[in-house]
Amino acid sequence: MKVLNYIKNIFVGLWHLCQGMYVTMLNFCRPKVTLQYPENRGTREYGERFRALLTMPHDADNHHKCIACGMCMNSCPNGTITVVSKMETDTVTGKPKKVLDKHLYNLGSCIFCGLCTSACPTGAIRFSNEFEHSVFTKDRLLLQLNRPGSSLAPKPAPNTQTAKQDVGKPVENVATKTV
Ligand code: SF4
Ligand code: SF4
Repeated sequence: MKVLNYIKNIFVGLWHLCQGMYVTMLNFCRPKVTLQYPENRGTREYGERFRALLTMPHDADNHHKCIACGMCMNSCPNGTITVVSKMETDTVTGKPKKVLDKHLYNLGSCIFCGLCTSACPTGAIRFSNEFEHSVFTKDRLLLQLNRPGSSLAPKPAPNTQTAKQDVGKPVENVATKTV
């Protein structure tokens, strides 16, 4: 009986070996899916919802959509966002109003959960696919999302199709390093 079991185990082992080799050969003949990075920089593709960098789109007139409400900052679980606001006099109404001074984002502590973009009532921030962020010091990961000299996009004039098309139209995602 021992001899029979011994021979049986040899054939079982060979069968399992063939199964493994079958899977190996199957994948060997399949088209390659490995991406040759960084050679493929120009042609690489991402998933639609891939989150790599929080950005604040500005239009051609350096306008953004941030109303400095702080919802993104309050919804962030680890204090990655700091919204600094200031008071200005509204040129139309003459009343003081809160405007964005600095929208600071620490890329080094972001966990890319997306809670900030979900909480934003105006769609002022969004994630881009840009993921190459290697720097030598951590302080260079502290970014200012609003551009210097930028301001809140004016409300579109009623019944003006052109204004609806232009205002808030993102043309570029820019994050300015604060250091
Ligand atoms: S993705 Fe999450 S961790 Fe990153 S800034 Fe937004 S809320 Fe904070
Ligand atoms: S980015 Fe959005 S949520 Fe954050 S302060 Fe600006 S308007 Fe509010």
